[in-house]
Amino acid sequence: MNTPVDVLRKVFGYDSFRRGQEELINTILSGRDVLGVMPTGAGKSVCYQIPAILGDGVCVVLSPLISLMKDQVDALRQNGVRAEAINSAMEWNDVRDILRLARRKEISMLYIAPERLELEGFREFMSSLEISAIVVDEAHCVSQWGHDFRPSYLSIAPAISSLARRPVVAAFTATATPEVKNDIVKQLDLDSPYVLTTGFDRANLFFQVDHPEDKMSFLLDYSKKFPNMSGIVYCSTRKTVESVRETLGRNGTNAVRYHAGLDDGERGKNQDDFIYDRAAVMVATNAFGMGIDKSNVRYVIHYNMPSSIDSYYQEAGRAGRDGSPSDCILLFGRQDIATARFLISKNENAGTRKANLRKLQDIIDYCHTEGCLRRHILRYFGETTEAGGCDACGNCRSVSNRRDITIEAQKILSCVYRIAEKTGGRKYGGGLIADVLRGKSSNAARREQIIPLELDRVSTWGIMRDAPAANIMDMIDFLVAEKYLAIDEYSALSFTERSRPFLKSGTRLLMRDHHEAAKHTKAKTKREKDLPRDEGLFEELRGLRRKIADLESVPPYVVFSDKTLAAMCETRPTDEDKFLLVSGVGEAKLKKYGARFIEAIRNWGE
Ligand code: ADP
Repeated sequence: MNTPVDVLRKVFGYDSFRRGQEELINTILSGRDVLGVMPTGAGKSVCYQIPAILGDGVCVVLSPLISLMKDQVDALRQNGVRAEAINSAMEWNDVRDILRLARRKEISMLYIAPERLELEGFREFMSSLEISAIVVDEAHCVSQWGHDFRPSYLSIAPAISSLARRPVVAAFTATATPEVKNDIVKQLDLDSPYVLTTGFDRANLFFQVDHPEDKMSFLLDYSKKFPNMSGIVYCSTRKTVESVRETLGRNGTNAVRYHAGLDDGERGKNQDDFIYDRAAVMVATNAFGMGIDKSNVRYVIHYNMPSSIDSYYQEAGRAGRDGSPSDCILLFGRQDIATARFLISKNENAGTRKANLRKLQDIIDYCHTEGCLRRHILRYFGETTEAGGCDACGNCRSVSNRRDITIEAQKILSCVYRIAEKTGGRKYGGGLIADVLRGKSSNAARREQIIPLELDRVSTWGIMRDAPAANIMDMIDFLVAEKYLAIDEYSALSFTERSRPFLKSGTRLLMRDHHEAAKHTKAKTKREKDLPRDEGLFEELRGLRRKIADLESVPPYVVFSDKTLAAMCETRPTDEDKFLLVSGVGEAKLKKYGARFIEAIRNWGE
C-alpha cells in the first residue's frame, strides 16, 4: 500500500480522486507547501490524511474547534488509522500518554488547537517530534479580513519557524476571496505554495426559493414527506424558533431547538441529539452550525430570508456534506425584508449599514430572480459558469406557472418615470409607487405625500386600480432582481440602463406566479426521484447503523455515510468481495461491520 490511490481505495474505500485531491496530495508528498481552497464537502480531509498515512512521522493538524477534531479522529479510527486529539479539557495524564505515542510514531495524526502552540513547553515538544507535515485546517481563521478571525492562528507561523526542522505546511479553507487567500499565504508564511482553488459549486445541492402563503404548512408538508431525514430549519428570531419547533413537535416530528437564549446544558444536549440522529430536525437561529460536521443533513430550510448570500451559502451548505442529494430551500415572505432592515438600522456605523443593505438587496434579488439559482450564487462569488441552466434548482426545473407581465412592467416603469418627472427627479419607494398605480392609499403618511406633490395628477395615477398592492410589490422586486429598476439604500427606485430600452422595445417579460406555484406544487421537492429506490432497506440499514453508532459512542455518519448506505441498497452486496466494492467501505470497515450489514441485506432479500 504505497501509492495515494491505494490508500484511497483500501483505507477510505473510494474508487477515484475528486477534483484537485491528487494534485494536492502529490505536492504535499513532494515537500512543497500548499493552499487548498475547496468548498465544504469537496473532500479536503483526505488531501492531508493520505500524505499523513504515507509519510514518516506524525502529521500535526491545527483545527479551531474541539467538535471538529473529535469528528475527524472518530472517522479516522473507524477506518483503522491511528489518530489522537489533544484539547484543553483533557487531564494532563491523558495528554502525556498521547504525546508519548506521538514521539514513538505510534500515531500518524495528532490534532491540536492553535492555542497550544502558545505554550513554550509544547513548542519544545514539537521540536523533538518527527513531523511529517503541519496542516492548518480552516485556514481563513488567520485572516482579519474573514469573518472567523482567531488571534491564536497568528501564533502558528512563529511556532513553525521556531522548530528545529521546518516540515511541509499545508493550509485548507473554503473561503475564497482574494484578500483572504493572500492573507493566509502571508500570515502563515507559506513558502512559495502551490495554490489550488476548485470551483465553488456544490453539485449535490438542490436550490429552491418558495413564496408560500403559509410557511408553516409548507414545512409540515415537507417534514411529513421525509419523516426520518435529518434537516435544519433556520429562523431569524428566537421566538420563531420556539413556535416552529413547537408546531413540528405537535405534528409528530422529533425536533429540537437551538438559540442563544437557552442555557449551555440544553444547547449541548439538543445539538448531540441532532448529531447522533436521536432527533431528526434542528430548529435554530444562526447561532447553530459553526463546527458542525454532521455529514448526513439532507435538507436545510430557511424559514426566514437570511441577511446576505454569504450567510445563506454558508448555512445552506451544511446540507449534503457526504455528497448525497440534498435540498436547500429558502421560504421568502415580504415581512422578512422589514425584519432584516430593522436589524440593520440598529447598527450605529453608517458605512456598515450601507454595506449590509447592499448585501440584503443581493439576497432579495436571489429570492426574486427567474434565472438559474445556482448560477446566481456562483456569480455573486465571482465565478462565471457556462450559459444555460443547471437542471438542479427550482427555477431551472420548473418553467411552468409563468405569466406574462409585460404590460404591468411597462406601467410600473412608466410610473417611476412620471413621478420623477413630476418631482424634479426625486426617487420614491415601492409602497408609494404602488399607491399611485392603484390610485389610492391605505397609508396615512403616504397620503400626505401624494397630495402636496400632486401625484394624483400624473398620467399613471390609478392605471392598475384592480391589482392588489402585494402583487405590485412582487413585480417591483422582480424588476429590481432582473435589473430593470435600481434600488438604493433607502429603498428608493430609479431607472437603470435596461429600463428605457425595455419600454421602447416591448420585449416580453415572464414572471413566475409565486402564489399560484406554491398552491400547485405544495412542498413538492424536486429531489424525490433521487432517493434510494428501496426505502425500506435503506431504513433497515439506517437502523443498524444507529445501533452500531450507539454501541461505539460515535455519530452514525461516522460509521457509514448516507451515500454509502444508498450504494448498498443499490448493489445489495451479499458477500465480502462485493461489500468491499461499495464506495465508502475500506478494509477496516469491512472487517468491523461487513458481516452485520451483509446479513441484513441477505435477510431483506429473502
Ligand atoms: P470538506 O472537509 O472539504 O468539507 P470532507 O473532507 O469532510 O470535506 O469530505 C466530504 C465527504 O466526501 C466525506 O464523506 C469524505 O469521506 C468524502 N470523500 C472525500 N474524498 C472522496 C472521494 N475521492 N470519493 C468519494 N468520496 C470522497
